Amino acid sequence: MFREVFAKTILSASKVYPYVLNPYVGCDYGCSYCYARFMKKFTGHTEPWGSFVDVKVNAVELLGKEIRKKKPAEVWVSGVCDPYQPLEEKYRLTRECLRILLQHGWPVRIQTKSPLVLRDLDILTGEKGRGRRVGMGLKGQGESEFLDHEGPREGAARDGRSPYDCHVGFSIGTADEDKRQLFEPKAPPILHRVAALRQLHEAGVQTYVMIAPLLPGAETLPVLLQGIVDYAYVDRMNYGYADAIYRKHRLEAYRTESYFREAARKIKQQFDALGVPCSVFFPWEG
Ligand code: SF4
Repeated sequence: MFREVFAKTILSASKVYPYVLNPYVGCDYGCSYCYARFMKKFTGHTEPWGSFVDVKVNAVELLGKEIRKKKPAEVWVSGVCDPYQPLEEKYRLTRECLRILLQHGWPVRIQTKSPLVLRDLDILTGEKGRGRRVGMGLKGQGESEFLDHEGPREGAARDGRSPYDCHVGFSIGTADEDKRQLFEPKAPPILHRVAALRQLHEAGVQTYVMIAPLLPGAETLPVLLQGIVDYAYVDRMNYGYADAIYRKHRLEAYRTESYFREAARKIKQQFDALGVPCSVFFPWEG
C-alpha cells in the first residue's frame, strides 16, 4: 500500500554523511533484518515493515529550494529506504533529485539493491542517451519504457569516467541466492545487482559494495565482484529482527561473532589481494 505525502524538508542531517535524502518513507523490499523499520515510530505507521510506502511527492520542489540555502556536502541517497524501489519507476523522485544535486556539484553517495539505477546512467555520467532500459523481469518492476534521453551533457568525461563526484553502491549480503531469498525475498536477485554494478563500472561511475549485514554465504562475494567495484564496506548483523529466520532454518551458527569475524577476515583478505580498499565496521581482528 502506498500514499502520496507532502514532506516538510528533504535534505536532513545524518550521522553517516553530512546529509541524507529519502524520497520515500518505507521500503517495498521489506528486508527481514532492516533497521529502518524504526521509522514506523516517527511516522505513525502500524503496518508490517515492507507493506507501506509514503511517496514524498514534493521532494524535488523542496530540494530545489533547500539546495540554495545549505552548504554543499556529501548526500546519502538514501538512509532509510531504497531510492530505487519499485515506486521510483513511476515517480522518478530519485532521478530528479539526483539531477539537481549533480548539476549543483554536490557529492552524492547512492545505496541501493535495484538495477533501476541504470535508468539514470545519463544523469550519472552526464551523457545523453546513456540511460538504460532495465526490464529484467524483477518482481514489481516490469518492462520499462522510461528513457527520456535528457540530462546534463556539459562536462561529460572524455576519459570514460563520470565527471561527477557520485558513487553508486549496491547492498549485497551474500553470494548465495537461496540465502538471499530467505532474508530479503522481495529484493532483486544477487546476479541482477552484480550485472548492474558491472554496467555502472564500465560506464565510468565509481562503484562500491556494501556487504552488510553479513549473511550466510558472504565469504565468496569478492570473487563475484572482482573488477567491478572500486571499494567495499563490510558490517555484521547488528539487529535482531531476522533472528526467527536464523532459527527456523537452523542458521544460528551464522549469527555468531565468530562467523562475522571469520567472514570479514576472508572477505578483507580477498579484496586486499585484488587491490580493492575494504573497510570493516566492527572489531574483527584478534
Ligand atoms: S532495501 Fe534497504 S531500506 Fe529497503 S527494506 Fe531492504 S534493507 Fe531496508
